[in-house]
Amino acid sequence: MPGTIPHWIDGALRESTSGRTAPVTDPATGEVTGQVVLASVDEVDAAVAAATRAFPLWRDMSLAKRTTILFAFRELLNARKGELAEIITAEHGKVLSDALGEVSRGQEVVEFACGVPHLVKGGFTENASTGVDVHSVRQPVGPVAVISPFNFPAMVPMWFFPIAIATGNTVILKPSEKDPSAALWIAELWKQAGLPDGVFNVVQGDKVSVDRLLEHPDVRAVSFVGSTPIARYVYENGTRAGKRVQALGGAKNHMVVLPDADLDLAADAAINAGFGSAGERCMAVSALVAVGGIGDDLVARIAERAHTLRTGDGRRGCDMGPLVTKEHRDKVASYVDAGEAAGAKVVVDGREVRPDGAADGFWLGPTLLDNVSTDMTVYTDEIFGPVLSVLRVDTYEQALQLINSNEYGNGTAIFTNDGGAARRFQNEVEVGMIGINVPVPVPMAYYSFGGWKHSLFGDSHAHGTEGISFFTRGKVVTSRWLDPSHGGLDLGFPQNV
Ligand code: NAD
Repeated sequence: MPGTIPHWIDGALRESTSGRTAPVTDPATGEVTGQVVLASVDEVDAAVAAATRAFPLWRDMSLAKRTTILFAFRELLNARKGELAEIITAEHGKVLSDALGEVSRGQEVVEFACGVPHLVKGGFTENASTGVDVHSVRQPVGPVAVISPFNFPAMVPMWFFPIAIATGNTVILKPSEKDPSAALWIAELWKQAGLPDGVFNVVQGDKVSVDRLLEHPDVRAVSFVGSTPIARYVYENGTRAGKRVQALGGAKNHMVVLPDADLDLAADAAINAGFGSAGERCMAVSALVAVGGIGDDLVARIAERAHTLRTGDGRRGCDMGPLVTKEHRDKVASYVDAGEAAGAKVVVDGREVRPDGAADGFWLGPTLLDNVSTDMTVYTDEIFGPVLSVLRVDTYEQALQLINSNEYGNGTAIFTNDGGAARRFQNEVEVGMIGINVPVPVPMAYYSFGGWKHSLFGDSHAHGTEGISFFTRGKVVTSRWLDPSHGGLDLGFPQNV
């Protein structure tokens, strides 16, 4: 009998009385493995109240004590990350090695946050004016909400909460209702690491929770990651309610292959970036742009490799797992149907896959579509599945124009041995994260992650120094220590003397 998956509020599991739940499935078997509770407004308020109560104590705790807890969390995570990876595979479906990779990329942000004493250091100017000193500090903003998508149930929350916590804020995490258990495991780990109760809370829920977090007056900032329509909604409603908001949205990532590229390396890269995590990555390559007559050769090399991939249960050492839900699987397959009907050539057909897994899993194998044009829905929409569309153009300029006219601007990559062309591309392309012979250019934790155009609403990217400034507010203090010579009345504007 599947159990319920509860909240984590004020340092303990908390059952729900909302009467609302949603099923959580194992995508490789199709079985319902749990019922996640969906919070009522009162339950969201209880989590915000816990975060609000914990804030003054945590804000005032010394940096030395805060980093001791962060280090302890990092050590526990590093020692036990295999458990977290298994939870991710069981609810998301991605293969175990990929789930481990996700945790490791999240761990990098924890390690970055361990350096918080250096990162929040302010400036000091002695004698800015005679006897007057000026210094700057950065202070936490207060309770913050993190709202995350299904595709990275550990890494995406970890883009935000280590930095939010390190800088003295308290957190309410609202994970995706499709794979909610990773967040609870992380909450227990924080408790073991010594984090005071109320600093990290998990509210399970749906739109009701999101709307309440956006309007709640005690929530000061919101970090959101998800699809573009919801990201826009969160940004507009959160900022209207006076909050600081960063809302990362969807993507359509192009990989350009120039005629001089090593086509075998490019084909390997296209496979890895197109079908890793079954294409359910915001940095997945979904549009391959073959420049200048290399299309047939490149497509043949990719197809040859795609046929060797084993799709199946992520616990069985397969290359690619199932899609997250049956609805999502069917939606992705319907895009392949539509592409075919519109004239695209189905070179590798994932609809016919024979998986190494249970019959009721949500399977769709690697799919390669050739001769895709920009008016087909398979190109215009974010599909978020293992579907790689090949478009052919004659020149570099046409490839650039294609990318720059796309509504999304998350990631892109160019494959070439021509340094001048690569340098031109990085300068001219209107995208936030660029790979040069690197197909999935996810920035390291000490840089910031984020796209342009409809891939991000707000001014701040995730983690790195932009993360530090998002979760802190600047303050500048001008001071002098008075002696009798400073007396006298002067209504003029202060001048530097
Ligand atoms: P989603 O937009 O459906 O859900 C994201 C979050 O919003 C979840 O917590 C969900 O519960 C909540 N939500 C869903 N519907 C809502 C509504 N009507 N009102 C308020 N909240 C709502 O996204 P998803 O399907 O979970 O994740 C996949 C999407 O996330 C893709 O579009 C992908 O590109 C994007 N993504 C982007 C990045 C990035 O860095 N830009 C990273 C990962 C995923």
